[in-house]
Amino acid sequence: MCGLVLASARPEFAQHTSERERRVHDSRLLVQPKPEVSAEGLGEFHAFQRVRVLRTFTGLRGLQILEVPAGESLEAALQTYRNSGLFQIAEPDCVARLAATVPDDPKFLDGTLWGLNNFGQNGGLADADIDAPEAWDIRHSASNLVVAVIDSGVRQTHHDLSANLWQHPTTGSHGFNALSPAEQPDDDNGHGTLVAGILGAVGNNGLGVVGVCWSVQIMACKFVDRFGEGTLSDAIACIDFARSNGAKVINTSWGIEEFSEALSNVVQQAGSEGIIVVAAAGNRSSDTDVYPYYPASLALDNVVAVAATTRTDELHFQSNYGLNSVHLGAPGSEIVSTYHLSDDAYATRFGSSMATPFVAGAMALLCAEFPAASPAQLIQRLLNGTDPLPGLQGKSISGGRLNLQKALSDGPAQTFLTIQLAPEQDWLELQVRGQPGRRFVVESSIDFREWLPVVTNQIPSGGFFAVTNSVCENCPTFFYRAVETLADGGTRSE
Ligand code: CA
Ligand code: CA
Repeated sequence: MCGLVLASARPEFAQHTSERERRVHDSRLLVQPKPEVSAEGLGEFHAFQRVRVLRTFTGLRGLQILEVPAGESLEAALQTYRNSGLFQIAEPDCVARLAATVPDDPKFLDGTLWGLNNFGQNGGLADADIDAPEAWDIRHSASNLVVAVIDSGVRQTHHDLSANLWQHPTTGSHGFNALSPAEQPDDDNGHGTLVAGILGAVGNNGLGVVGVCWSVQIMACKFVDRFGEGTLSDAIACIDFARSNGAKVINTSWGIEEFSEALSNVVQQAGSEGIIVVAAAGNRSSDTDVYPYYPASLALDNVVAVAATTRTDELHFQSNYGLNSVHLGAPGSEIVSTYHLSDDAYATRFGSSMATPFVAGAMALLCAEFPAASPAQLIQRLLNGTDPLPGLQGKSISGGRLNLQKALSDGPAQTFLTIQLAPEQDWLELQVRGQPGRRFVVESSIDFREWLPVVTNQIPSGGFFAVTNSVCENCPTFFYRAVETLADGGTRSE
């Protein structure tokens, strides 16, 4: 009867279904008289019921909003109207709610966490956000999913984090400390605790902030010291710990500018085991297609590189970008999260480091929602679900900013062509990502007029195919495009 109560109830959201129970306005009815009923007769009937007409919609076949006198039974009045035979429609006035699951965490409710829900507060642009409340209607927790925060550690006693920390089944440890393996991965810098809170601060506990995931298992892997520095070897030890202890998503809010085969191998190994690495694009205002930043710039199908956007949906001025090496943007300025200085400390930071855990948290929810999907398929879903932004067009693979609600829903299938130069730079790899089953021809041109086919292939179940092409120093500049080939021999350009 009340079609306006939105959102589907799912078993795991049992605590919210009670809030969604049908509610009706306590003194109003909606009625539409039958066409043959005269205005005079209608007026008399209302007067006899002592009902007041609040509004008549003349353009809506005379639909009326009625007010039942105080103290009268709404239910009885409704029956009287239905039984009168005078009305085509006689309904209660249902209370509509936005299709949004809203947690009680104060910094969410007061608008501090603009990246999750931006209604234009503090100079922001309305809806320059990841549509978290709408997404949380679909899923807000990934309780069994392990996300490794490879960083400076996590304050393990923080009131807004401790319930969401992973625990080693035998030792009870919350992670791994590569700097001092006998010790817990405590945070003496703050960076890791900020990252952890963005992706997974405890939601709906009446405290502080809420993570993209309200409930998740955060594995703290420490390789960064209190000065904000760590070594590649310790980072690799952390990735290996995460890989061998059940992490499904790894957050790397850091990077190095030199290519490391060892780092590439350990990330690739993680990918072969279904683990997704969500990596910061870096904060040097530079193009990572030209100046790579690893692990973000690794051309592996389990790596997602994230740039930082602002509360007005622009690329943050310090964020790196890259048409072929940065996948998407996510909120990364004026981000408030948990901090390491006390159990109820919070702090504000900016940068792709803060944007990355928005995507890692989103990825955790996607993994929980689509457990059979491969890393490449989940990344494809993430890219399909972005909101296009002018500031990210030509500066990222998707051209858009994370939209969690779209990523969790079935968005339109999109196709992306990316080009990566091999580290030795004598060949390049072209990747075509899209909906499995669709066929594409990759074409090249030197003048945008004549296009020659390079290869035709079908997108396999993994979500992309790759082609390599050699490059030479004195050749002209080649441009590439992917064109869909349809079953009837026609084409549809992409
Ligand atoms: Ca929104
Ligand atoms: Ca909280």
